[in-house]
Amino acid sequence: MAGEPQADCLFCKIVAGEVPATVVRESETAIAFRDISPQAPTHVLVIPRAHHADAAALAAADPALAADLLREAGAVAADEGIDGSGYRIVLNTGSGAGQTVFHVHAHVLGGRDLTWPPG
Ligand code: IMP
Repeated sequence: MAGEPQADCLFCKIVAGEVPATVVRESETAIAFRDISPQAPTHVLVIPRAHHADAAALAAADPALAADLLREAGAVAADEGIDGSGYRIVLNTGSGAGQTVFHVHAHVLGGRDLTWPPG
């Protein structure tokens, strides 16, 4: 059922506290933690506590939760002090786009010059 924890999901395990993570921010609906393989001086992942596979599935099942996720991503950028210089919110969607963990997560990247288009 949409939103229910999945036994084989790494990020559901982080939500449950079964896998350690460097948590930088928490809300009722979302958790933000540092990426284990940072691609920029600030690289934080923001996930909903509820399991949804990707951004499209989240938006379809729970638009308010999708809005929460974006709000939390912006709050992380402010907490990290990168909101003034500019930052990137990335939602890789599907394996062809590089998604490797199928629990929706917003990458918040900043603290260096970010080029466009992304690789
Ligand atoms: P994706 O490629 O967009 O699915 O992003 C998955 C991200 O999760 C990658 O940037 C990984 O480095 C990150 N990641 C994988 N395992 C962990 C972990 O245990 N803690 C924090 N980040 C992780």
